[in-house]
Amino acid sequence: MSEPNRNQSAPNPRRRRKPRRPKWVTNKLTYTLWRNWPLIRFVLICLVLAAILFGMVRCTASAVMGFFEKDPAESTPPQSTGPADTQPPETTAPPEPPEDELLKQADFLAAGFDYEGAAQLLRESSYFASSSSYQSRVSEYEAEAQKLVKWHDMQNITHVFFHTLVVDNARCFDGDYTEAGYNQYMTTIPEFLKMMESMYERGYVLVSPYDIAYEYVDENGQTKMKYGEIWLPEGKTPFVMSQDDVNYYGYMIGDVDPDYERPAVPHADGDGFAHKIIIGEDGYPTCEYMDADGNILVGSYDLVPILEDFIQEHPDFSYRGARAILGMTGYEGVFGYRTKPAYEDDLGTEAYQKECEDARAVAQCLREHGWILASHSYGHPSYGNISAEKVAADSDKWEQTVQPIIGDCDIILYPNGSDIEGIGKYTFDNPKFKTLYEDGYRYFYNVDSHVAWQQLGDDYFRGGRRNLDGYRMWYTPKKVADLFDVNEVFDPDRPTPVPSI
Ligand SMILES: [Zn+2]
Repeated sequence: MSEPNRNQSAPNPRRRRKPRRPKWVTNKLTYTLWRNWPLIRFVLICLVLAAILFGMVRCTASAVMGFFEKDPAESTPPQSTGPADTQPPETTAPPEPPEDELLKQADFLAAGFDYEGAAQLLRESSYFASSSSYQSRVSEYEAEAQKLVKWHDMQNITHVFFHTLVVDNARCFDGDYTEAGYNQYMTTIPEFLKMMESMYERGYVLVSPYDIAYEYVDENGQTKMKYGEIWLPEGKTPFVMSQDDVNYYGYMIGDVDPDYERPAVPHADGDGFAHKIIIGEDGYPTCEYMDADGNILVGSYDLVPILEDFIQEHPDFSYRGARAILGMTGYEGVFGYRTKPAYEDDLGTEAYQKECEDARAVAQCLREHGWILASHSYGHPSYGNISAEKVAADSDKWEQTVQPIIGDCDIILYPNGSDIEGIGKYTFDNPKFKTLYEDGYRYFYNVDSHVAWQQLGDDYFRGGRRNLDGYRMWYTPKKVADLFDVNEVFDPDRPTPVPSI
């Protein structure tokens, strides 16, 4: 209801006649507008005319300037025009960010004890200056970092290793001629997961070999190797992991060729292992696996994606993004790709090139996700038992055929664990060491059942690795008691006794 209007009485004839006030004029503001309407109308018309005139002048001026423009350097630089002009001025404070992806990423880094990296990620964000949630999160990271303690025993960090994990126990332990070897040297997926669970519960944290020791240049300009520092919360214990023969050999996937002359392809009657690493839809490395019916499945069918899944669930199981070391031979290609040059004839150039390209992409993807790629020799000979010339020839072959696919490596995982020296230090008098050093290797790993065995030389790092497989679990369960209880882990599908070696 509008207020009753007291001025609705008859107009006063002695005064200049006012225009009749319309009904919508009900308060002071509208009255003022109505009263001054002619003036307002005049001002508005003037403004519109001025705007039109200004636009015309500008158009004409730029047309004229454009016509006379001769030196491109004098024209306005492209970066100062266009979209940049439409962006809000920099002085505008950005709004508080929502619970976003960046915060999740930072929390993931922090969970892996990389508080510095986590804080840096948030500090670099354009939201940081205005976001109290980012700022308080950085303070939390700084407080957590204060609680870390320097690992006290760098000389004794345990290193565990695996071969390709068994996906289908029934096909693996099927009584054929390969069963004994699988039973001795392989680990099933449920076993691997139970081992990881147990190690996680006991406070183990995966670290990189580069966290343990690294090369530096001393005051005399000499390249030397020294121990690094690992900072973990009290109660956590660092460990290293590797996997050998990440090649998906023909004999495991149902395509046996004793001479390795033919590129192997997976068959339904394979022994129940993944047959290649691929890049998954999420950009992470994953596996292809052919089941007993010949269906090709994609998923977590070997160590790489299984460990990745585990770390995504338990980010505090990996120190600063560490993943395992993967060792590859060359005589059947790498990661399940048939990249051996001799296969080009069989596959045809185009298909062979595609294998190489795909394998390179996988290598790149693995490295980007923290996996370390290493040599496991070209032909899997025991380096300790062959001549220095044969070691050099094998290393050359690796360099010619595997390095172009996976890139430079400075780690070698000795095939059959066979070291080139006794427990004494390597010297350049050992021609095998000289060759391998010149070929770029700095980290050398044999196989050893001790909890830890390490040797830091002036120029290299050397370590032992523990096999967590059927043989170890069956014959010397006490030697893994620091990591897990064999009774809880040992797969009941394994034929027993595990054959002796
Ligand atoms: Zn091997």
